[in-house]
Amino acid sequence: MKQAIARIEQRIQQATQAAGRQSSDVTLVGVSKTHPAELVHAAYAAGVRIFGENRVQEAEEKIPRCAELAGIEWHLIGHLQRNKAKKAVMLFDVIQSVDSLALAQALGRHAIELGRAPVRILLQCNVSGEDTKEGIAAHGWETDPQIRAEVVAVVRAIGEVAGVRIEGLMTVAPYSDEPESVRGVFRSLRLLRDALQPELPNHQLATLSMGMSGDIDVAIGEGSTMVRVGRAIFGERPAAMP
Ligand SMILES: *Cc1c(COP(=O)(O)O)cnc(C)c1O
Repeated sequence: MKQAIARIEQRIQQATQAAGRQSSDVTLVGVSKTHPAELVHAAYAAGVRIFGENRVQEAEEKIPRCAELAGIEWHLIGHLQRNKAKKAVMLFDVIQSVDSLALAQALGRHAIELGRAPVRILLQCNVSGEDTKEGIAAHGWETDPQIRAEVVAVVRAIGEVAGVRIEGLMTVAPYSDEPESVRGVFRSLRLLRDALQPELPNHQLATLSMGMSGDIDVAIGEGSTMVRVGRAIFGERPAAMP
C-alpha cells in the first residue's frame, strides 16, 4: 500500500512537472469503495487524507470506524438519490456528484437545518456523452448553443441555492485502455469550468475533479486539480462492483 501510494505521488509529480504545474496543485482522493475501514487506516498511515466513497449506505458503516483519524475528509463520488441527501450531508465533507437543481436544493436545505451550511459541492458534468454516465448533460456544449444555454441555466440556478457552495466540476471519463483517447473529455471539462466561472460570481470553481487510476497523467496534463484513485492504491475491487 505504501509503495502504491508512493508510485501515485510520483506519477502526480511527473505529470505536473511535464505540464509546468506544481505537484501541490493536485489533491489525491483515495477511492476506498468496496474496501474495509482497515485499508482506509493503512492509506491514512501512508499519508492519504481524503477518501472517496460512492454509496451512502457503505459509507455509513465505514466512516464511524475511521473517526479517530484526525483531519480525514470524506467525499461522495457516486450518484446520490434525493432521499439520501440528509444522510449524505451528515456523513460527507464534499458531495462531488451533484447533477441537478433538485438535489442541490435538498442538500442546501438539510445543510442549513443541520447547521452544516454551506455544504461543499462539485457539479458532475457529462461531457463525454456516454449514456451510462451520470451528470449534467453537457456533451457538445462547445458547439451547440442550446446545450450550452441549458447547462448555464441549471448551473446558475444551483448557484442561487442557499446553503451550498460550488467549489468546481467533476467528471468521469469513459473507461479506456488508451488514456490518450479521453484527453478531449478532460479538456472539455476544463473549458466548461472556464466558461461557467463568470456565470457564478459568488462561487470559486477552483476544483477540477478528473482522472482515475488509468488516466491521472492525461487528466493532470489537462488541468486536473483532484484525482480520484481506487485500484492503483487499494487493488482490484470485487468484479460486481464497478
Ligand atoms: C470507482 C471510481 C473511481 C476510482 O476508479 P479507479 O479506476 O479504481 O481508480 C473514481 N471516480 C469515481 C466516480 C468512481 O466511481
